[in-house]
Amino acid sequence: MPAIFSHRFDTPLYTGNVCVQTGLFINGAFVDASSRTTIDIFNPSTGKVITQVSEGTAKDIDLAVAAARNAFNTTWGLKVPGSARGQLLYKLATLMEESLEELAAIEALDNGTAFGVVKGWVVPFSIGLIKYYAGWADKISGQVIETDEGRLTYTRHEPIGVVGQIIPWNAPLLMFAMKIAPALAAGNTVIIKPSELTPLSALRVCSLVQEAGFPPGVLNVVVGYGNTVGSALSSHMSIDKISFTGSTLTGRKIMEAASKSNLKNITLELGGKSPNIIFNDADVDQAVNWACHGIFFAQGQICFAGSRIYVQSGIYDEFLAKFTVRSKAHKIGDPFGVDSYQGPQISSTQTERVMGYIKSGVDQGAKVHLGGQRHGEQDGNFITPTIFTDTRPDMKIVQEEIFGPVSVVIKFEDQEDVIQQANDTIYGLAAAVFTQDISQAFEVGHALKAGTVWVNCYNEVHAAVPFGGFKQSGIGREYGSYALEHYVNVKAMHININHKMG
Ligand code: NAD
Repeated sequence: MPAIFSHRFDTPLYTGNVCVQTGLFINGAFVDASSRTTIDIFNPSTGKVITQVSEGTAKDIDLAVAAARNAFNTTWGLKVPGSARGQLLYKLATLMEESLEELAAIEALDNGTAFGVVKGWVVPFSIGLIKYYAGWADKISGQVIETDEGRLTYTRHEPIGVVGQIIPWNAPLLMFAMKIAPALAAGNTVIIKPSELTPLSALRVCSLVQEAGFPPGVLNVVVGYGNTVGSALSSHMSIDKISFTGSTLTGRKIMEAASKSNLKNITLELGGKSPNIIFNDADVDQAVNWACHGIFFAQGQICFAGSRIYVQSGIYDEFLAKFTVRSKAHKIGDPFGVDSYQGPQISSTQTERVMGYIKSGVDQGAKVHLGGQRHGEQDGNFITPTIFTDTRPDMKIVQEEIFGPVSVVIKFEDQEDVIQQANDTIYGLAAAVFTQDISQAFEVGHALKAGTVWVNCYNEVHAAVPFGGFKQSGIGREYGSYALEHYVNVKAMHININHKMG
């Protein structure tokens, strides 16, 4: 029998217990991994081990695929009406609401994002996503298409089948909800692999999936490493689709594995290096607030982090001075601390990686205007908010995704120049424009090569609004009805009513 992780919190922000089953969740039950080995799960704030979870392998993926296929053929997919799927998803969302604080505590402990942020936004947004797709489950339908007299032609939107999903560690519960909800609403069965660094919230939700009464095998969670479980999912001959969120590097491997196996359908949500463009006429105080939120929210570990901040020359000095004051004011510390805004980076490896980028910026001649150091205990993975100036477009800190609290503030002169610079990376996930000039907002917004453009705001996402990347930031869209399109096969039905073959 797999172990149970239970922990009592007694912090100013949360007093209560958390309880997580640590096995794999296959065919509706928590089971030991076939290898019987485990993965240590660390608290990023202290570097200490929190618990161990079962380590899945390719063999466990085979078991999960068999369970998911059986469920698809017998108790889910086309065997149940969409309304029944919607009711179960809604029930799950309700149970999550009842456990909101516990889920927030698990997430803050495992991932390091401030408890207040997780409780106030991440968990409610994740629940909202599940409710949103619960509402869609009985509204997924094809079209009747007028063709010729004597014929009826229509389309059916059928579930694809068994779907494999792979998610990263930066927003574990949100990623989990974002992936499973549209897939299940559309009638697919799911095998999802959380990041090996942050599997606890997904495992907690599995208990709620049991409680909600989902048929066994509809949702399976197999924790494990990317090169074993992740690669078994993407190369499996009986998995019909793979949906991945993570780095562009891994996205390439997933695409290769999918193409070399059964040419499975793929969706990729990958990295970013998003530009935030602030024109002379912008409300500077507001631009500073949004820019801080854009880059430092969740320690900069956000795929759409506004890491390249372009400021027009007329307000550059004022912006930089105010941005510096605002960034310095962030309270860095324990996610359960009363005023903590910025928690730890996810791991010591990731901390070293971010520090390596900071060093590369210095080595390539950029100036550290603020921060650039570790904060507090060395085991705690905290990095001070960092601002670079005096950069060149070819520097690594301008071109590559750092995934930490590191920004570059770049002076520009005119619109044409900034559009060219903003579009000059391999990525195209998101971008922002700050201006009071409505024509400029449209012109620049349309010229930017990005899947999302914010005007006079940053980091705004909504369950109903598609999100995804241009260029090497991905293929496909999450959220909204757009995500559902990636979880159905469209079948065209041609019905001959009275047309005789001569
Ligand atoms: P990662 O690519 O290292 O890992 C993501 C997931 O893939 C993990 O579960 C990992 O175990 C798995 N994996 C690793 N190697 C694999 C392989 N060979 N085959 C199959 N699976 C494998 O990314 P990460 O470090 O966990 O997350 C950070 C990255 O995620 C950043 O690049 C960030 O931009 C991106 N991200 C993108 C979005 C988006 O919506 N576009 C959202 C969040 C994060």
